[in-house]
Amino acid sequence: NAPLHELDPAIAAALDAELERQQSTLEMIASENFAPVAVMEAQGSVATNKYAEGYPGRRYYGGCEHVDVAEQIAIDRVKELFGAEYANVQPHSGASANQAALFAIAQPGDTILGLDLAHGGHLTHGMRLNFSGKQFNVVAYHVETDTGLVDMAEVERLAKEHRPKVIIAGWSAYPRQLDFAAFRRIADEVGAYLWVDMAHFAGLVAAGLHPNPVPHADVVTSTTHKTLGGPRGGIILARSKEFAKKLNSSVFPGFQGGPLEHVIAAKAVSFKVAASQEFKERQRRTIEGARILAGRLTAPDAREAGVNVLSGGTDVHLILVDLRASELDGQQAEDRLHEVGITVNRNAVPDDPRPPMVTSGLRIGTPALATRGFTAEDFTEVADVIAETLKPSYDVDALKARVKALAEKHPLYPVLNK
Ligand code: PLP
Repeated sequence: NAPLHELDPAIAAALDAELERQQSTLEMIASENFAPVAVMEAQGSVATNKYAEGYPGRRYYGGCEHVDVAEQIAIDRVKELFGAEYANVQPHSGASANQAALFAIAQPGDTILGLDLAHGGHLTHGMRLNFSGKQFNVVAYHVETDTGLVDMAEVERLAKEHRPKVIIAGWSAYPRQLDFAAFRRIADEVGAYLWVDMAHFAGLVAAGLHPNPVPHADVVTSTTHKTLGGPRGGIILARSKEFAKKLNSSVFPGFQGGPLEHVIAAKAVSFKVAASQEFKERQRRTIEGARILAGRLTAPDAREAGVNVLSGGTDVHLILVDLRASELDGQQAEDRLHEVGITVNRNAVPDDPRPPMVTSGLRIGTPALATRGFTAEDFTEVADVIAETLKPSYDVDALKARVKALAEKHPLYPVLNK
């Protein structure tokens, strides 16, 4: 039982370096966040040792009395948080939750209708190489070229033409809110199930700052580690118990064996945090920060540098930067921001002329910095640093110093320092 630093110095050094990286740079990948120390404590707990196939009170292993308590608390809290009658907290990840959910309401060969990956959808919504694209007949809807908004007329037209078994509403890269009621109406018109994947915006929903899809959808999936700010994992929710049996058996024994009870305990902690006033305030700053970024990157000097913001702004925790008019491609812009200490990811813009490994855009998110305590004033400074970095000539040292000052103003995980 030697400590990690003695037992495995190579791994300890990599993890120490990762802590240092997180502390000294500005994390703006829209799907990332910083889990509270208490969440990581639960995730690093003895529950990692426990086999617990089955569900609370109905396990295939002995000795589950304590993990049963933790899993039931997680279920109860997440149901309360989102107003759901059904919850499954066992999916190992967002993709696992999506796989289990889709197979519970559809059969291989059925038609599914989801947002095109290149227009902001997720792999699991029908991408060619993913289980969803390989095993289902995929029809994709898109965003409108001029507005950047989901084309609901196209959704309706495709739904009527193809009569999908499932319509998927959800995204990985989209800066606006979806109209869940409109999706519901279209699904009802063609007799489809409506599945909402709220992985990205679940934290905003929990805070009451984004419409809740649960009342509209037949099934809702999410990750727990993006805006929701918990451990890496997935959940499935539903407004009623109609699909409870199918969903449960699709997760276990359908796709998974033993649940990760240490992660489930950590999910429970994060759901408690997500119900707090402080969490609401944090989500408010998250959206405010994204709006400040959008405002700065649509200012005349940014436009002159060929920088644009898709849809002209944002209602959520991220913005999509369009670099088609810039001398930089997505890869170069990502590298430049990395050089000054800001981590973002390059992202395809709709109808991107460049290949997916290069792209002509960036996705920039504010959840992690909001968790770090960034205020409107701090986001104004971050936005200016980004705008300056994306100009044809930029002063690396001066920009690095500004990033360093921001990172030092909001120390991350000070209790983890040696
Ligand atoms: N669904 C959406 C909308 C996502 O954006 C993602 C992750 O990027 C996932 C599902 C998959 O989550 P995970 O990476 O945990 O499998």
